[in-house]
Amino acid sequence: MSRVYLYLGVLLCMISLCCSSPSSLGSRRSILREVQDNGKSGGDHPDYAVELNASNFDAVLKETPATFAVVEFFAHWCPACRNYKPHYEKVARLFNGADAVHPGIILMTRVDCASKINTKLCDKFSVGHYPMLFWGHPSKFVGSGWEPKQEKSDIRVVDDARTADRLLNWINIQLGSSFGLDDQKFQNDHLSANISDPVQIARAIYDVEEATSTAFDIILDHKMIKPETRASLIKFLQLLSAHHPSRRCRKGSAEFLVSFDDLYPTDFWSTNKQEDDKSSVKNLKICGKDVPRGYWMFCRGSKNETRGFSCGLWVLLHSLSVRIEDGESQFTFNAICDFVHNFFICEECRQHFYEMCSSVSTHFNKARDFALWLWSSHNKVNERLMKEEASLGTGDPKFPKTIWPPKQLCSSCYLGLDQRMNKIEWNEDEVYKFLTEYYGRTLASLYKDRDIIGSDGTEGAEDLIVATNAIVVPVGAALAIAVASCAFGALACYWRSQQKSRKPRRTWK
Ligand SMILES: Cc1cc2nc3c(=O)[nH]c(=O)nc-3n(C[C@H](O)[C@H](O)[C@H](O)COP(=O)(O)OP(=O)(O)OC[C@H]3O[C@@H](n4cnc5c(N)ncnc54)[C@H](O)[C@@H]3O)c2cc1C
Repeated sequence: MSRVYLYLGVLLCMISLCCSSPSSLGSRRSILREVQDNGKSGGDHPDYAVELNASNFDAVLKETPATFAVVEFFAHWCPACRNYKPHYEKVARLFNGADAVHPGIILMTRVDCASKINTKLCDKFSVGHYPMLFWGHPSKFVGSGWEPKQEKSDIRVVDDARTADRLLNWINIQLGSSFGLDDQKFQNDHLSANISDPVQIARAIYDVEEATSTAFDIILDHKMIKPETRASLIKFLQLLSAHHPSRRCRKGSAEFLVSFDDLYPTDFWSTNKQEDDKSSVKNLKICGKDVPRGYWMFCRGSKNETRGFSCGLWVLLHSLSVRIEDGESQFTFNAICDFVHNFFICEECRQHFYEMCSSVSTHFNKARDFALWLWSSHNKVNERLMKEEASLGTGDPKFPKTIWPPKQLCSSCYLGLDQRMNKIEWNEDEVYKFLTEYYGRTLASLYKDRDIIGSDGTEGAEDLIVATNAIVVPVGAALAIAVASCAFGALACYWRSQQKSRKPRRTWK
């Protein structure tokens, strides 16, 4: 019976995910990666610029996390274009690919107008000479074009790009930046550590995907799925499949759940199946083929070794905490505590977090209480690390630890200072309001703006309303959430029944 619940729940969840995603989704997702792989297979010196053509132009520019794009229209037979290529590549090296010096800011692309498939595309951009370069927000190129006499256009011709120096200088003028051709990786002087800019969190949607994908890669690489951790992973997957802010991660989690019993049957560890199943598990990409991308956006540190995954994991946990319903709060608490305890491969972090989880003696009945507990626990970690990093000099100088949110982000969160205890007095209603807005609506806003997944606009809308402080709810999106919640309930029910039939494990106090 319990198994029926599981399949019913997962089926409903999958239906809700699939109904609103267009059929071309799978192919579109992998385009960015494919394009980059193609470039790399060419020879000893991979092309950094991404080669686009009429069939992938819109999809790639729609999906890129980059804030700006440069599109070079060229013809492969044109000698001037061949001579220009090394200049363009010198600049593209800085911004494109997983080894980029300044990733996620500008997508550098090229379109070969001498290829027949691209004739219409080049006409749309009135390409009158080769090479011709355009600049704009990636989304502005989608389904669009350019005309010389157009008075106002979101796309601009790059009019001084004859050499790599001049192209980079032109870009620096547009962005007010100081990128240099000799910049090396993690020479991130341009990073804006402006904590008062709430728009920054919108870029974290890419990091939440990156962290999720990285977490599962680590779990699989380190063979962390064991008889004693299996149930904990199932629980976390249930949470992800219902409430992850990214649809592609929800879908991947649901798919993993469906195949979990086949991949890891209970007798998996007692037989020699471990060897047989390696390949199918190895290929598992929980957030789709394009993720992990190999770089961080919101969580990028100014040094190689700072921020990144642990920052992305915190953002994921907070974003889950503001998306759950009241009835799911205790389950979520257990799922997160167990996940960190079993799968976060940082011994000190695991131990500290375990202690904080274990010190909770009451049952969570409200989503608000759990979100505030997580926020306050994160602040306890911040407080401890503030001192540690200051004395050891191990922190990121651009992102020093603070008690969060700072006043610049939420002044109404502050009631005052308890002088006697030297502690901030918080207005917790305001903190919760702020958390739901920040990790709910703002975090998902890029999905809406860019319509990353669907062409029907439902992705943004759906992600907006999962946050507890609901705004206007479109009917289709409400249905999808309702179905996803049912699935979550069914999955939780299955999990509980499984737990009953298992040997009792440690529970949080
Ligand atoms: C569960 C967990 C436990 C950890 N325990 C330890 C530990 O014991 N020792 C250790 O050295 N490192 C620990 N880490 C890592 C550490 O907390 C930081 O993630 C890491 O130092 C990177 O810091 P960061 O500057 O990127 O900001 P992070 O602390 O990672 O925060 C990421 C982002 O979350 C936001 N944020 C900050 N505070 C809060 C808050 N209170 N509520 C909501 N949002 C907030 C900010 O925008 C911040 O940029 C832990 C990480 C996790 C996920």
